[in-house]
Amino acid sequence: MAPWPWTARHLAGDEVRTRIVPWALASPLVVVGVIALLLRLLVGPPSAGTLLSVLAGGVVSAVLLLHLSMQAAERLDEEGRHRQDVLDAARRQALHDPLTDLGNRQLFSDRLQHALARRGSHACAVLYLDLDSFKTINDVHGHAAGDTVLVEVASRLRAAVRPEDTVARFGGDEFAVLCEDLTDELNASRIADRVVSSISDRPVVVTGGREISVTPSVGIALARDEADASKLLRRADAALYRAKEGGKARSELFDERMQAQAVDTLQTEDDLSLAVAQGQLRLHYQPIVDLVDGHVQGVEALVRWQHPRRGLLQPADFIPLAERSGLIVSIGAWVIAEAWRTLEGWYADAGDDCRLTVSVNISSRQLANGELLDAIAVAQPSGRAAGALLVEVTEELLVADAKAGFSTLHALRTMGVRVGVDDFGRGISSLSHLQSMPVDHVKVDRHFIAGLGRHRQDEAVVAGIVGMAKNMGLGVIAEGVETTEQLETLRRLGCDAAQGFLLGYPSPALDLDRAVHPGPGGALRGVLDLDAAVVVPSVVPSAAF
Ligand code: C2E
Ligand code: CA
Ligand code: CA
Repeated sequence: MAPWPWTARHLAGDEVRTRIVPWALASPLVVVGVIALLLRLLVGPPSAGTLLSVLAGGVVSAVLLLHLSMQAAERLDEEGRHRQDVLDAARRQALHDPLTDLGNRQLFSDRLQHALARRGSHACAVLYLDLDSFKTINDVHGHAAGDTVLVEVASRLRAAVRPEDTVARFGGDEFAVLCEDLTDELNASRIADRVVSSISDRPVVVTGGREISVTPSVGIALARDEADASKLLRRADAALYRAKEGGKARSELFDERMQAQAVDTLQTEDDLSLAVAQGQLRLHYQPIVDLVDGHVQGVEALVRWQHPRRGLLQPADFIPLAERSGLIVSIGAWVIAEAWRTLEGWYADAGDDCRLTVSVNISSRQLANGELLDAIAVAQPSGRAAGALLVEVTEELLVADAKAGFSTLHALRTMGVRVGVDDFGRGISSLSHLQSMPVDHVKVDRHFIAGLGRHRQDEAVVAGIVGMAKNMGLGVIAEGVETTEQLETLRRLGCDAAQGFLLGYPSPALDLDRAVHPGPGGALRGVLDLDAAVVVPSVVPSAAF
């Protein structure tokens, strides 16, 4: 509303301005007229002198009023402008990424929806990209260097595309570009290749003059007959995934084959979401054998999916999907509960001196999620089996999210659960990180075990890991043991325990019990004759020990 009767507000661009309306200039006459009329009524016809002073008074007071109202108007304008600035900043903040000043996911989605709605005969493409090994950059060079890389990538990205294209950062190292009005669909691939080379061509220089090489992988989806923004983004994401699988630092265009695969994946995801509730998951157990006396010290629980149409599926067929979709959290909770249930049965059968443990694999989603602790607390039995759970996490996972991961692991150990690092040695920074990790044992990656007896450097690595772990008071388990030669070397190097096809295949609980360890003293108390390199049911240690 205008502050005075003779001011009016109007829009100048985006701004509201106040101005004096023209008729206000006639206000002195109005004031004089009114006063003269009042005088005439009250004291009769005024003299010329009185009329003059009324006129002068009227003019002065009207000018004063005009002046005051103009000041008030200016003040209001100032406040309005300030309010507008605050609103603009808030609007910008809501739609932009503060680190790189690129648009965010919300802005990108809005623009994409508009582009799809008004798309004519020209093509429109979405490029979805992320940096290869960005986690490693953060881990090795620190978060400040990681931020510098992101800011530089954002500016190279902007320079690699046309000014009218929308460039956004979705968070982390994920970026997206929207190219509208493409005259030729092939242009999308050309733009993507330009994006890859503009980011990869020269290293990013961070504080201290360090140079960091970065490469992106790009997925491209074209809006040919697809007018749904979120579907288009999912297609670009599927193409990005394919680009990564195909060797990184490259781009990949979404095609019909991927379309079929995407449908397949969606179907599998739907099926998997029912798998727990419908009792289709199974656990197979693989024995872990003590290398000093040959007794089975524990088992590793490995999940399988008895799919109603596709038969028994291995973890590689569904665990990555479960991790991407988040279903791993409920699958993981089931694994823990089922492993403990089986273990309790073995404890009940085997009697008091049973010390068997069960190891379960934990994925990053579970570790980052407080539900893991709940799942364990809910499933934990009250008897002797209560302390017999071990969890296995990969070192990559711990390095990637050390803060959240470590606090969950500390909490687990407080609950009496022991922790092992799986696939140890595969990651880049194992030795330096091990000391700070809240863990009880390491499991040497099976690629080093496979090289024992064949590659001298593998034996040196395993010897180094065993020696270092022992110094730190940690246990060492070797996985993937397939030959007697590997077994002998591990025993010579002082490795504590081993697991592998040589010692026992992963099997359902019942088979494991019957076929591998039916010692007369009870279930799962068998001792293996390691020298004969075959599993023999016996409770008496072989002469070799
Ligand atoms: P992992 O934790 O490294 O498990 C060991 C894998 O090595 C198992 O494969 C096992 O069958 C295989 N293996 C055992 N002995 C030998 C051997 O002598 N030679 C060779 N070449 N392989 C051997 P599997 O069962 O296919 O599991 C693969 C991976 O899936 C596991 O690797 C683990 O990372 C993941 N996984 C399995 N169960 C679960 C689960 O319940 N939750 C999660 N998050 N991941 C799981
Ligand atoms: Ca494992
Ligand atoms: Ca492993």
